[in-house]
Amino acid sequence: MNLNSTSRFRVIFESREHYRLIDENKNIFAAEISGFFRFSAGSWPAVGDWVEGTAQPGGWILIEEVLPRKSLLSRSDPGSARPQILAANVDVLFVVTSANPDFNLNRIERYVAMATSGGVLPVIVINKIELAENAAALISETESRFTGLKVLGVSAVECRNLGELKSYVKPGLTVAFAGSSGVGKSSLTNALTASEAMSVSAIREGDGRGRHTTTHRVLQYFADNCAVIDTPGLRSVGLSDGADLDSVFAEISASARHCRFRDCRHETEPGCAVKAAVDSGEIAPERIQNYNKLGRELAFEERKHNKAVMSESKKLWSKRSKAIRQNAKIRDDS
Ligand code: GDP
Ligand code: ZN
Repeated sequence: MNLNSTSRFRVIFESREHYRLIDENKNIFAAEISGFFRFSAGSWPAVGDWVEGTAQPGGWILIEEVLPRKSLLSRSDPGSARPQILAANVDVLFVVTSANPDFNLNRIERYVAMATSGGVLPVIVINKIELAENAAALISETESRFTGLKVLGVSAVECRNLGELKSYVKPGLTVAFAGSSGVGKSSLTNALTASEAMSVSAIREGDGRGRHTTTHRVLQYFADNCAVIDTPGLRSVGLSDGADLDSVFAEISASARHCRFRDCRHETEPGCAVKAAVDSGEIAPERIQNYNKLGRELAFEERKHNKAVMSESKKLWSKRSKAIRQNAKIRDDS
């Protein structure tokens, strides 16, 4: 590629202002954004975006413009006024859940809302369908809650119904998987991509050595110009907000209001109303286990998020103080 000539790329990875782009020949480049983004109100590039940029000495790309988006997956970011963009230009979002005691229509709803509000077609996928006592009932219950949406019962392990999943993956389209951890998103992604001879091995890093590295690639091309996006953000949407836990476990949070201690963990605390409700058979013990498990995951997400916010602001401060020191030096020198 020539220096200073503008070309079109797609963003396949983004982390703290560092980007990886892929060009039409499937070469991969490191990239950064131009100063323009910092001072404009416009949106920064996200995974899935088409961008324009120019090659710089050393082979990296300076991103100058984000091309208009066809669709957008985003969620409100508790640490910022702007929504957090998870992925751009996705055609189909597979909202994955699994046929086990965790099966939960409210959680599916959250992802479906994210897809439809961003112009993405949601397709509901109930994985591990072989575990369901009554698969047909589970599917029809889901269909009647989400009328007009396609509901697929599949099994990644037993390769059931994967053909129907694949029918949504067409040349030129981009798909993504969303859902809680453990429902089978990676297994389904692998089933989609591995069965196609081209797979990711045809993608070469732009370092000229033809080395194939899979680190940090969240958008990958496979088969005939199909793309799949797997970002960490799409793996935790259902847990991004404590209110969700309370609505999903309404009977538990209702009882919890009568616990003696406000921060009761419903384990060994005296005066625990939730434990009393379990003892009297009002609440199933598995529900408490699920509630506690999701609560721990949520707390983990929150800590992770706070850490990210902290280190972001530290970085900003070190940048600012460096600029201040430099300004002071210029004044001293003059
Ligand atoms: P992810 O966290 O959503 O990416 O889930 P994974 O793909 O890592 O799968 C989590 C676990 O569920 C793994 O142990 C898989 O082997 C298992 N799993 C995935 N698909 C199925 C399925 O169709 N049936 C069953 N029984 N287990 C599955
Ligand atoms: Zn309690």
